[in-house]
Amino acid sequence: MTESTPAPAGAARPSIPDRLADAPRSGGLVVPYITLTHRDRTRPVWGKVHAPTQRRVWRQKLCQICGHPLLDWVVVYLRPSDYGRGIGVEPGMHPECAHYSASACPVLAGRLDRYHPDPDRHLSACGDTRCGCRIWRRVTDEPSHLAGQPAEAWYEGWLPLSDYTVVTDHGNDTTPPITGVDVREVRLRKLRRIRASAAGGEQSMDLLAMIIAGRKVFGYGEDLQ
Ligand SMILES: [Zn+2]
Ligand SMILES: [Zn+2]
Repeated sequence: MTESTPAPAGAARPSIPDRLADAPRSGGLVVPYITLTHRDRTRPVWGKVHAPTQRRVWRQKLCQICGHPLLDWVVVYLRPSDYGRGIGVEPGMHPECAHYSASACPVLAGRLDRYHPDPDRHLSACGDTRCGCRIWRRVTDEPSHLAGQPAEAWYEGWLPLSDYTVVTDHGNDTTPPITGVDVREVRLRKLRRIRASAAGGEQSMDLLAMIIAGRKVFGYGEDLQ
């Protein structure tokens, strides 16, 4: 770990699944496939996504953590606001990669209640003339409106790969365009909350909590059918 690539504050060191054994690591943590890094993949900019890689992950239905094709079951992380819009903005993952990610990410694991305050802080050139960091300002078009904001509630849902449909919402005057997984027409299996909304976080109507409550009433909350 170098001074310019600190591990996220509050990060744990969960055990690394076999699927991620060969993935680059920084400070003992796996560097997700879509994370912006210097040419040396062990030097990530935590909290920043490499936008072209993220687009490829959506287009080719790859796992956002290991970068390999998604298989039978896909895990997606969703906020109530994503579900309300009908699009999940976090690309899918293999179940074991998702489990690792939720344990390692301080926000998802509930150890931090705010997103990284300033991911741009580490966007400095590393001196490697073949490294893409010289043009990062042009490739990181991820909106940073979450920076420093209180965390929302996050949910984990499972989908069969056949239901994992990538769509683009072109937005309007007040809503920016987004690409993501269509959650309007699919039944999320194994739906569960992985963290509650932080104090001061988004408190819009939580349809996902209502779905879970409804399934409990009817007795089919956690099955895979
Ligand atoms: Zn994976
Ligand atoms: Zn660099």
